[in-house]
Formats: sequence, C-alpha cells, structure tokens
Amino acid sequence: MSTAVVGIDLGTTFSLAARMVNGRPEVVRDAAGVALVPSCLSFHDDGTVLVGSAARARALLDPEHTIFSVKRLMGRTLKDLEAELTLIPHQIVEREQADGRKVLRVRLNGREHTPEELSAMILREVRRRAGDPTKAVITVPAYFDDAQRQATRDAGRIAGLDVLRIVNEPTAAALAYGLDRLNAGTVAVYDLGGGTFDCSILTLQDGVFKVLSTNGDTRLGGDDFDQLLMHHYAAKAGLDLTARDPLLLQTLRDAAERCKVALSTADAATIALPGREPLTVTRTEFDALILPLVVRSINKCRAACRDAGIDPKAVSDTVLVGGSSRVPLVRRMVADLFGKEPQTHLNPDEVVAMGAAVQADILTSGKRTVLLLDVVPLSLGIETLGGVVDKVIDRNTTVPCRATTRYTTFVEGQTAVKLTIFQGERELARDCRRLGEFTLGGIPPMAAQLPQLDVTFLVNADGILTVSAVEQRSGQKASVEVKASHGLSQDEVETLVLESVEHAHADFRARQFIELTNKADADLRHTTKGLAAAGEALSPEQVAAVDFAAADLRRAMNGTDVPALQAASDRFNTATIPLAEALMNAAAKQLFGGQSTARLDADQL
Ligand code: ADP
Ligand code: MG
Repeated sequence: MSTAVVGIDLGTTFSLAARMVNGRPEVVRDAAGVALVPSCLSFHDDGTVLVGSAARARALLDPEHTIFSVKRLMGRTLKDLEAELTLIPHQIVEREQADGRKVLRVRLNGREHTPEELSAMILREVRRRAGDPTKAVITVPAYFDDAQRQATRDAGRIAGLDVLRIVNEPTAAALAYGLDRLNAGTVAVYDLGGGTFDCSILTLQDGVFKVLSTNGDTRLGGDDFDQLLMHHYAAKAGLDLTARDPLLLQTLRDAAERCKVALSTADAATIALPGREPLTVTRTEFDALILPLVVRSINKCRAACRDAGIDPKAVSDTVLVGGSSRVPLVRRMVADLFGKEPQTHLNPDEVVAMGAAVQADILTSGKRTVLLLDVVPLSLGIETLGGVVDKVIDRNTTVPCRATTRYTTFVEGQTAVKLTIFQGERELARDCRRLGEFTLGGIPPMAAQLPQLDVTFLVNADGILTVSAVEQRSGQKASVEVKASHGLSQDEVETLVLESVEHAHADFRARQFIELTNKADADLRHTTKGLAAAGEALSPEQVAAVDFAAADLRRAMNGTDVPALQAASDRFNTATIPLAEALMNAAAKQLFGGQSTARLDADQL
C-alpha cells in the first residue's frame, strides 16, 4: 500500500520513515527487513552518489569521499563547529554570499555541497524507500534553533517533499507510545542518539500533549562514546590520532563503535585494528570513560524538570529514545534519576519516526484525537544598547506564539534602525546565536526617544520565526521578515528544488502551463470584450469561428498538456485575426476621422 504522506526521522546517524497502516504506525523496511538508513553519503568520480548502507560500506575504502553526521552541520556556522572539526575528515568551508549571508559547504570529490543539499540526498533515499510520498512530517531535536529548523525544512523541499510540519523528536516519541500506553500525568523523554541529546518534559491531559520544557545538547551522543573509545585505544596502543590519517581514523571509529555496541550486552569486548594487537575493554572501563557524558545528560534532565516545575521522582512515565539509550549505564542512571523503570516497549531507534507518522496522519486526516503543542526551545530577542539582548519571547513558550515589544531611538533625527535578532539564554549578544538582522527605514526625522518601534516576533507551529517592525508614531508602517544570517536563502532553495533531477522537468512544465494559462485567460477576456465592441463589423461565420476556438482553448486550459494548450492558443489567435482587424479599423476611424487602417503608413502607426 502506498501512502502519500510519511513521518521521517532525519537522524545524525540513522534516518528512517514510517507511515500509518490500518490506523497504526509502521516503519518502512526494505526486502531484508532493515528500517534504518545510515545517514551516510559516498561520492564517486563518475558523479554517482551512494546513500545509506552502500555508502557506509565505502566509508573504510574511500573515507575522503564519504560523509556522515551531516545533521551536525545543518544551520551551523564554521565558528559553531570548531570543537568537532578535528574528527571530521572533510574539508568544510564557509562561503560568504553577495548579501553577506554565510553558507557552509563541504568539499567532496572536488565539488562543494551545502548541508541542506546533502541532507536532501538522504531524505530522497528515505522517500524512495517509502514509495515516493509527496508529503512528510520531519523531526528535529527539541534543542534545534531557528536556523537549524529552517535548514531541515529547506532540505525537505530540495528532496521534493511538501514538509507539513517540523516536529520535536521527543514529542514524536511520546506520540508513538500514545495515550493508551502512557500513564496520564507527566512524561519525561530521554533521547540519546548518535549526535544529539534531548530531555523533554511533557504533560498528557485530556488528549493533549504539551511540552512543558526541553533541555539538551546538540553535541552529545553515541559518537562521543566512540570518540572516547578511540582516544582510549590510541593512548593504550601508542597511536597518534593528530596525524589525521583518514583511513586510520575511520577504521578505528568503526571498530570502536562495534566494541561499544557489544558492551551493551557483554561484560567485555575488543577493539581490533588490522595488523595490531586487539585491545580488550571491559564494561567497567567503558562506564568509567563515558560517565562524565552520561552525568552531563542527567544534569540536563534535572534542568528540564526544574524548568517544568516538577521533581524528577514525580514524573509518571519515562520514555527511552535513541540507539545510545541501550547502553546499560545510561538506563541505570535514567532509572535512578526518575525513580522508576523507563518505557522500552518500542524500539528506541524507530519510535521517533513512528510518532512522526502519527502526527502526519493527524495533520492530513483532520483527526483531532491528539493535539501537539511544542515550545520555543531557546529565548528569542533583540539586541539593544550596549550589546544586551532584550528577550521578546521566553524559552518554553508554547508555539504558535506572538509577542510585541516597543523600542525607541537614541539619536536625534534617526531615520533608520537596525534590528539584530538573537536566540539564547545569555544576557549579552556575543554569547547568543545571531539569527539575522534587518533595517527598518523611512522613519521621519524626530527627536530622540520619540519614535515608537513595535517589533513583533511570530513563531509558527514549526517553531520558525518571523520578525516584523512598525514605527507607530509616524503612522508609517513598514514590516520586514527576518533573513537568516547564515544558511540558504529562499531563492537558493527554490533554485535547488528546480535543479533537483527528478523535479526539474515536471516543475518546468508546470510553470510553462501556468504561464500559458494566464496568457490564454487574458486573451479570452479581451476577445469577449472585443466581440461586444465590434458589433456588426464581423460576419456571423467569423464570430462562430472565434467561439469555436475559444471553447477549444478553454478545454485545453482544463487539461495538463503543454503542447496541446500551446496549439489551441495558436488556433485561437488565428481565429481572432479578423476581430483584431475590425477593432483596429474602428479605433483608427475614431482617431483619424473615417480613414481605415489600410491607408495608414507604417510610420503613422
Ligand atoms: P540518531 O538519532 O542520532 O540518528 P540513533 O538513535 O539511531 O541516532 O542512535 C545511533 C547511535 O546509537 C549510534 O551512536 C550507535 O552506535 C548507537 N547504538 C546503536 N545500537 C546500540 C547499542 N546496542 N548499544 C550502544 N549504542 C548503540
Ligand atoms: Mg534520533
């Protein structure tokens, strides 16, 4: 059964889709029963790009042309990534566009790709496996800021998907468990994946899910466990990782991950590299290595509980999400914190996609059995005097939301104000993330502090921000949309959509058809008016020929065939030549007092 709508978990490490079958979410599996698609791409000299496990298999042979963890790059700047670049064996550059926006690009096989394009390739593969649906709900970590959500939405568009909604992963997970499995009350969702960590506190009341708070870290996950094991191995085996030998790094990373997964069920496992002594790692050693990271995640849970105004022990249910939540130490510490055994009934790798499918179904079927309400993960504000960020929308406000704050000027006769938008919890702009800026101009010169600038922040249901500003006193209303200071512009996204191989042709045709239809529509209207004006000037046969061609054209306009519409349009134009001549004659008579066009010279026309 093919459904036109799916839920997609676009993960750092693994991506997958799920859809509703007979009222229940089911993950999309291939013939071998595999649901998880490694979020991995491999670029070849002949231009082919392998996606998923085929790409992952190339990782060891061709590390320079294989990329994973693209999600870490989404909506980020080079500065954000400083800490991680040492372990990413690819050249990542930041290009400045003509308008000053910064766009990250990954250099692969001599070509540069934006993170949005790379994510779109993964989404396209997930989409293909699901039978090419056209609509999707895509999930993101709750901690993702505006730029990261925008980048995810853009990736979906580039992959040819109509993105119905961007949903927080923990919210989706709770939705997958659903009202029948979870106890009414408060639910904590602990999601430790490959690259990101989230903890969210949700309430479940009267069929309504509401996220009370979210906390997390976009740089904490199973990849970090792998890295700790890599450094542990390097220290024991006297290996120099700073040499950045890509083949060695990836071989070691793979071996470390296998060792980690084995340690989830065994008391000891080995890291074995070709031609070297295998190193045995015990569960106890591994636990000691990762303890600081797990503690960090537990502290984030405490913070989320604090924000929600709830004691961890008072939480009625805990849901585990993400492959790394299978690590025994993680399970133990989560159980300790909340004082109860967590829910593990559903596969932690699949639960987010399942919830996204449920949400997609709610959105498309119009069923309103469950409502989802998400929150703004980080406060949003405007930079004011002295580099201080004035918060307009506070963290954890339920979306959609709107807030307006009034500002004024500090300079006599100031006619323009630059507004810079920041997201984050810190006081100073330099410690927050700069989302973008715009200038409100056209303010009539006034004394300082007289202008009343009302700045409105609007966060839609996807958590995406629009900012507008109006100067009230002058009555001069101007509003502007915030433009992200990094990431793709809307035009760039649309260009990529058109370039996308599978869509370029269809989109071009659709646009051509619309353009022809618009023109035909105008021609028909002019002709109707013209026929009335021409009166007796046309013979009944000529009028009948125009009517026939008009009916023919209307039929073609209701179809989808571009050449047929073009042909009907041409026939219509031929049929209306006598009418055009009659109208020109009439117009000329009016202008030149009885002369017909036949006697007008070209230069007079
Ligand atoms: P993401 O949401 O970031 O794409 P997943 O939820 O799929 O990630 O989790 C992937 C991470 O889970 C990887 O780091 C992987 O090594 C880890 N993982 C998967 N299975 C296990 C396991 N049995 N024990 C420990 N870690 C695991
Ligand atoms: Mg995940």
